[in-house]
Amino acid sequence: MVDVEKIRADFPILHQQVYNNPLVYLDNAATTQKPEVVINAVRDYYLTVNSNIHRSVHYLGQQATLAFEESRQLVREFIHARHQHEIIFTKGATESINLVAGSFGRQFVREGDEIVISAMEHHANIVPWQLMCAERGANLRIIPFHPNGELMMDAYRELLNDNTRLVAVTHVSNALGTINPVKDVIALAHGRGIPVLVDGAQAVPHMKVDVMELDCEFYCFSAHKMYGPMGVGILYGKEEWLNKLPPYQSGGEMIRNVTFEKSTFGDLPFKFEAGTPNVADILGFRATLLYLNTIGMNRIAAYEEELMKHALDRLRAIPQVRLVGDSPHRAGVISFLIEGIHPYDAGTVLDKMGFAVRTGHHCAQPVMDIYGIPGTVRISLGLYNTREELNAFTDALNRVIEMFR
Ligand code: PLP
Repeated sequence: MVDVEKIRADFPILHQQVYNNPLVYLDNAATTQKPEVVINAVRDYYLTVNSNIHRSVHYLGQQATLAFEESRQLVREFIHARHQHEIIFTKGATESINLVAGSFGRQFVREGDEIVISAMEHHANIVPWQLMCAERGANLRIIPFHPNGELMMDAYRELLNDNTRLVAVTHVSNALGTINPVKDVIALAHGRGIPVLVDGAQAVPHMKVDVMELDCEFYCFSAHKMYGPMGVGILYGKEEWLNKLPPYQSGGEMIRNVTFEKSTFGDLPFKFEAGTPNVADILGFRATLLYLNTIGMNRIAAYEEELMKHALDRLRAIPQVRLVGDSPHRAGVISFLIEGIHPYDAGTVLDKMGFAVRTGHHCAQPVMDIYGIPGTVRISLGLYNTREELNAFTDALNRVIEMFR
């Protein structure tokens, strides 16, 4: 089992008071806190090896390049990709999705074609496809979900047709917490030769992800949602598909040869990494992955599952609480409404009590529209949260309900 007190000691930010109350951080789906080893890795980089990468013959340049490529290797191992060059560094899940939408759209999408997404996507996995479809004269088709927050797989099957060019679906919903059956989603698409992008931003922090087992063509996530620095994202792509896509951005680093008449592009992964990357934070992410590896993702998943069960039991025991999304397959996130209290009001009072929760539409406005609500209160769990914090949270929630009575 996870030794949560030992883990908490690794996260300096957690040990503070807000408004004279101990901080209880339950907004991990927005961003997670960073362990000291990660903060130190970023600092150490600037103190000892700061240098541009892949271009300098000098000592510092070589050290920085080696460490940078080691990060890529660790990411490969972490998500079990076949090749190191299938790992592209971006600035976040959003940029990873934009990269695929832009490059894939230009290469493969024509008028009348269709892109399939689900109704529970984060805006980051809606708007890039919407813009690309508008540019290419293509149509966006939407997989609906059941009231409990599970995808309607029969409707999905019917959406797939000869015009479908790509399916893009979230692994775990940031608004509902549902873990989608992405393996089935992928297998059904593959049955028709359609590639699949999985938005793993809310999955990778909570479970072991194996991209070869999933067999998806693309998988996207952000370091900052998994205890790593901000400004680092990953795009995993199957070699075969990354090779088929044109560059996303252009400039230095991504070329093989440039003349005024014509430029040729570098091999993977450099073809998709134009300009100077965020070396310091990518090295911070290396420290994150080493940290998570020492704990073990399976142990983190088991611990969080217990925590999730406990939180759900406590919330279900409050008659005024209505869960929004109630799939038995869930990770990380619990969204709910409180009878008679606007989510924003509840969030504001909870904040004064020391509880950092999120209120609103969680960048998933279509989900809120489907339920006909303006937003929810959302708590999202991380590996440093405890049962005691959740007890304190539900006690505080009861006090808020009393207050508004
Ligand atoms: N996808 C999902 C499911 C998310 O929850 C988020 C962020 O909340 C994103 C994508 C976008 O991540 P980022 O803002 O780090 O690019």
